[in-house]
Amino acid sequence: MSSTVWMDVEWEAMTTPVSAKFLAPMGQEGQRLVTRLKAEFERIEALMSSYRNSSEVSILNQTAAQTPVAVSRELIQLLLTANEISRISAGAFDITYASVGRFYDYRKKQAPSEAQIDGALPAIDYRHIRVDPQSRQISYAHEGVYVDLGGIAKGYAVDRAVELLKNAAVQQGIISAGGDTRLLGDKSGSPWMVAIKNPRSVSGNAEDSNVALLPLVDTAISTSGDYERYFVRGDERIHHIIAPETGKPVKGVQSVSVIGPEATMTDGLSTAVFVMGRKKGLAMIEELAGYEAVIIDDQRRMHFSSGLMNPEQ
Ligand code: AMP
Ligand code: MG
Repeated sequence: MSSTVWMDVEWEAMTTPVSAKFLAPMGQEGQRLVTRLKAEFERIEALMSSYRNSSEVSILNQTAAQTPVAVSRELIQLLLTANEISRISAGAFDITYASVGRFYDYRKKQAPSEAQIDGALPAIDYRHIRVDPQSRQISYAHEGVYVDLGGIAKGYAVDRAVELLKNAAVQQGIISAGGDTRLLGDKSGSPWMVAIKNPRSVSGNAEDSNVALLPLVDTAISTSGDYERYFVRGDERIHHIIAPETGKPVKGVQSVSVIGPEATMTDGLSTAVFVMGRKKGLAMIEELAGYEAVIIDDQRRMHFSSGLMNPEQ
């Protein structure tokens, strides 16, 4: 029997902490896999970050309103998935949110003016993104459209990383990028315990940092929270999840976790449910086979989709 060793690494990619823990064959293979995981995150960031001028997404944002742009099969596929999530969430998830969203600067504590929002709002609509899968060309059917994949790209990267491990015959592991996590198999015969963070943790100490631990096996879970990127102005929390209808941060919930088979979908859906709010968001999740959700509302009450409730109740 060949022996195995747990690899356990943390690094930063896509402007977020990434962690990977997996059971690798003894010897050089584990370290080689770590190198490849890091390279895969780097590759996806270089392709999809809207902060990098040379990324395919940036090139789209610079030119696709004037002329169709040919992009990689991979980006076409992710754009189609994003548009599919927009469709099933009735436009709550919309990667063109950034047509207005790009005027928020959370570090500098800056928000766009009402006039700026009004001017840019017509550019928010995922249907402005025209995808031609045959020619692999994208065009924007409106001036001022700006796409940002921040609501789905981390989940996608996590899925790609897990595929990489699977192809190397790894059977147990956990990969997280920010709020997006995917589990490969179990943890030496027990479920992985995945935390749902307390959205208003004050101390950062273990006692109040989590509100729940979920035992999970071979699945993905994504959490969207209003505590990830925000600043406070008066009594308002200006955070990073934007309602496509208004161009403003969404109110009503503090955190949404979605569980399902793949992190690309749970990532997009957790952002979508956050925008839709408790009632509409849970109704959408109930309609989707294989998905569950946990919502913490603005009164700090927790709500669960039916598949997570006690069957006796
Ligand atoms: P997440 O943490 O996955 O919910 O992603 C939040 C990120 O998604 C934000 O930082 C933005 O980059 C992006 N985003 C914000 N609002 C939306 C929206 N309505 N639809 C799609 N992406 C969004
Ligand atoms: Mg998301």
